[in-house]
Amino acid sequence: MPVTGLEPYDDQNIFARILRGEIPNKTVYEDECALAFHDISPQASVHVLVIPKGPYVSSVDFAARASDSEIAGFWRAVGKVAAALGLETEGYRLLSNHGLNAGQEVPHFHVHVFGGGPLGRMIS
Ligand code: ADP
Repeated sequence: MPVTGLEPYDDQNIFARILRGEIPNKTVYEDECALAFHDISPQASVHVLVIPKGPYVSSVDFAARASDSEIAGFWRAVGKVAAALGLETEGYRLLSNHGLNAGQEVPHFHVHVFGGGPLGRMIS
C-alpha cells in the first residue's frame, strides 16, 4: 500500500510492531523519545533508522502533533545515534522520505542515518 504521509496512523505498521517488541530489531540506541536500529536492507556501510516512540505517520505529522519535548528529544537522540556509531568525525547523511514521490514505505516517521564511508551525491 503506497504511503501518502497523510493517512491516519496505522498501529499495525512494522515499526509500531518493532516498538511493541513483536518483531526483533538490532538496536543501536534507545531512550524515552526514540529507538534506533539497523536497517534490514542496508544501503550504505552504516544504515540505521531512528524512529520516535509516538504514533506519527510522517515528518509533517510529527512536527504538527508531537510535543516540543518529544521533538527536541527525538533530534537529540539522532545526534546520540551518530555518536554511538562513531560517525561524528567523518560525517553522515540524514534522510526522511515523505509520501508517494519519495517512496515512503513504512507509515511511521523515521530518519535514515547513512555513513561509514563516502556516500556520493544521492542515496535513495
Ligand atoms: P524506502 O524503503 O523507500 O527507503 P522508507 O523511507 O519508508 O522507504 O524506509 C523504510 C525502511 O525500513 C527501508 O530502508 C527498509 O529496508 C526498512 N525496514 C523495513 N522493515 C524493516 C525491519 N523489520 N527492520 C529494519 N528495517 C526495516
